[in-house]
Formats: sequence, C-alpha cells, structure tokens
Amino acid sequence: MPKQKAYALGIDLGGTKTLAAVIDITSGEVVASARKRTRAERGQEFISQHTIELATAALEDAKLPHGTELVAVGVGAAGQIDRKAGVIVDGPNLDVHDMPIGALLSKQFGKPVAVGNDVEVAALGEYVYGAGKGYNNFVCIFVGTGIGSGIVQNGSLYTGLTGTAGEVGHITIAAEGRICGCGSRGCLEAYASRTAITKAIMAEIHHGRSSVLADEAERQLKAGEAIIRSGILASAIQQKDELVIEIVSEAANYLGYGLASVLNFYNPDCIILGGGVIEAIDLLFETAVHRTRVTALTAPAKKTPILRVKLGDFSGVVGAACLAAQGAGYQFPT
Ligand SMILES: [Zn+2]
Repeated sequence: MPKQKAYALGIDLGGTKTLAAVIDITSGEVVASARKRTRAERGQEFISQHTIELATAALEDAKLPHGTELVAVGVGAAGQIDRKAGVIVDGPNLDVHDMPIGALLSKQFGKPVAVGNDVEVAALGEYVYGAGKGYNNFVCIFVGTGIGSGIVQNGSLYTGLTGTAGEVGHITIAAEGRICGCGSRGCLEAYASRTAITKAIMAEIHHGRSSVLADEAERQLKAGEAIIRSGILASAIQQKDELVIEIVSEAANYLGYGLASVLNFYNPDCIILGGGVIEAIDLLFETAVHRTRVTALTAPAKKTPILRVKLGDFSGVVGAACLAAQGAGYQFPT
C-alpha cells in the first residue's frame, strides 16, 4: 500500500532572501515554493507581513488535495533563537529583535509552529533527505555572508548550553588577525566567508590590480552592495582571472584549516559543505578539501567523507518542515 502523504510548510528566513515551501514530509519533495528578497531595511513589521504572504502563496500554489491539512509550520531564521518561545531574539542580518514569529504564524495558519536557527535547520534537512542521510554524527557547514554550521549528534541537532554550538565561523585561525564582526580577531569567517572574499577582491582592485571584475566592483561600490555574487566569481575564475583565483584559493585554504580543526576535535562521520560559493565554485570546494586532508590528523584526514549539500537552496525549507513535523510528533525513518 502506498504510504499516506503528509505535508508541512517550511520557511527559510535569511538576511538576503526569504523562501517558503510546502514539503511532502514523507519524501522530502518540494511541492511548491515562493521566494523574495527579504529587505531587512524595511523593518520588522514588513518582514512579518512579507513572510506570511510568501507562505500563503506557496500554500495556494501547492493545491493540496481536498481534505489534506498541513501537519505543522517550521521556520529557520538567521539569528539567535529562543526555540521554546518561538522568538527570534536577535537577528543582526534581519535587523529584528524579539520577533515572535512562532505566535504570528500559529495565529495565521492555526498549526503548531517550530522555530530554529537557519543553519541548524538546514543541517536537519540534509540529515533527513540530503547528503547527511545515513550519517548520525556530522557537521554541516554553510559559507555565506558569514560561516555557520549545524551539528547532528546521534541523529538529533546539538545546540549546546547556550544554544550557540556550531559557530565555526568564529574559530580562531589567525592569532591577532583580521577584526571579525563578533568583536574578536582572526576568526575563520573574517578570511573565508563570501563577505571576506568580496572585501579582499575589492581592496586589491582599489590598489590597482587588474581584474575582469573591475567594472563590477565599481558598479557594486556605487550601488552600495556588500557582496559579489557566487556566479560572478565562478565566471571570473572560468576566464582565468588571476586576482579572483588568488583570493578564492587563499579563502579556501583558510576554510580548510578551519575544517581540519573540526575533524580533529569532533571526528564526525562526515562533513557537509553548503552555501552559494561552495556550490558554484569547484576551485573553492576542492582547495578547501585538499587543505583539510593535508592538515588534519592522519586517520580522520584519510577517512572522513567531505561532501557538498544535496538539497541546494532547499536545505533550509526542507529542514524547517522536518523540524516542525518532528515537533508535531511525526517520526522520520532513520
Ligand atoms: Zn568572530
């Protein structure tokens, strides 16, 4: 007998974009989705409204069979989360504080709502339906504006005493090094995030280095954009742009040092890497893997699979739907 399908709504609320999707939680299939730029500068009220609109659009588009109801609604949000209260306590990239997103969505949709951090939720998505399927202990690391990770331990998310476990972006990789957004110095994300890569390229162009990205840099500077898109970096590398190859390789090596520390410390079943730059730029992924393997202790360096995410952009929404379904008592086969 075919298994009865069940659906949950997953929302990925990030600093750059918001994505809402209806997921068949029995297969991980994305039935329908809707996305828009987040526009954090428009304020908390706007983000609330905008999230509800996107979720509603995805739900309408899914055209669920008559009589089928959602099991639950899940959110992965960029920031520090009070998971019990369903509140985004502090989301610097979203510019929200004490935002009761759980209560808001539960009022709107009349379903149980689960709220988690965007990266941990994406790790859960990869665990249930992505590259982490079959691995019970792993770290899923996302390289983007910053660098964050979700830790799966014995098949569950591990969040730590203060809920901040997995902050690999703030591993110190250069004593007394570059200043990081967290206030410390020499953190991994000050060297290997997309923000760090952008800054380094812009600085070199500013100092007169030639690059196919020189015009792009000028355009971005005028538009006030802080980040060079992954596709543009990948295309510059394809055109054999020396500057971009140099900066991306350097960032990848730093990332590898960070990954080697994770391997040595946690000895996970695998490491999974995600984020636009990881997915779009082979040079970054391959250089980071090589650096990890020549830096970490021999046994984990040789044995540990280092994989890319499987669900791509959908890790977050699939994970948010899984988190919500779990919270509502749904059991996933492991
Ligand atoms: Zn830091």
